[in-house]
Amino acid sequence: MTGKDAKHDIQNQRKRKNWTFLTQTQALDAIALDFTEYGPQPDLFTSIAPVILGNRCNVIHQGKHAGVWILQGKEFVRVADKDLGFYLIHVLETDPPDVKTLAEICAKIFQTPSCPGFSRTNNMAGIWIHSQMDAFVCRQCGECCRSLAYENNCTESDYRFWQSLGRRDILAWVQKESRAGKHNRYRIWVDPDNGETAKTCPWLSPCPDGNRFSCTIQKVKPQICRQYPYTRKHAIMTGCKGIFITQFSENTRSSRCPQPKTPVTGLSRNHPGGNLCAIL
Ligand code: SF4
Ligand code: SF4
Repeated sequence: MTGKDAKHDIQNQRKRKNWTFLTQTQALDAIALDFTEYGPQPDLFTSIAPVILGNRCNVIHQGKHAGVWILQGKEFVRVADKDLGFYLIHVLETDPPDVKTLAEICAKIFQTPSCPGFSRTNNMAGIWIHSQMDAFVCRQCGECCRSLAYENNCTESDYRFWQSLGRRDILAWVQKESRAGKHNRYRIWVDPDNGETAKTCPWLSPCPDGNRFSCTIQKVKPQICRQYPYTRKHAIMTGCKGIFITQFSENTRSSRCPQPKTPVTGLSRNHPGGNLCAIL
């Protein structure tokens, strides 16, 4: 491989890192999780209801009847925002759309380029979703470290990693709960002096300039911290103060979805659309 090829390969790997492949079932689970985690999202529901329900719904944008009206029997009935998310996910799960439509729905829900495609490992049809984290710049405000509930999100591999490094200082703040017949649970950051979850992460430290914060275990911090905010949507919904240096718009031409390396054969005819991005 020439130097030029190697550089090209590294660039491609970086680009691919921002794409996550979800099977159709996983995409539906992610949508259900989004609706549950973030609660009613009236503007979003108004925009995706026609894609999901077609002519079984009417969207009224103004006036006292504004909202999403759904055909029930022979009449349209207005569905409250708090019930709409559950209704839409129920329809998606009982009557799943084709992958191209599902990618279009994912793009609207996750506010990110999404496209129909195939898994690189087993050629399964599904959705490629871009995290946009390549465009994210953290402002080091420390807000996520102070306010988010991450105490139950320490993984076994985090724990083993710190063990392998002999980081007893970190392990002292992790409470391991052994559960018969189940996976162990690891809680962070539990004050070794009183056994209570610390109000502020013990590894958060103010920078000398007084305006920013840093993580004193930056290189070995838990996976949950390494991944945050994970997507642009999650950043927005959890009050992250970071910035995205590129704007996302459904009308903006997005980067191409990753393509499977091998020719795709023998796929179901129920998965049309090839690999073109839904937001091209
Ligand atoms: S470990 Fe570091 S990144 Fe994670 S909450 Fe603490 S200070 Fe923040
Ligand atoms: S809230 Fe966002 S900008 Fe602030 S430290 Fe956390 S990731 Fe960075």
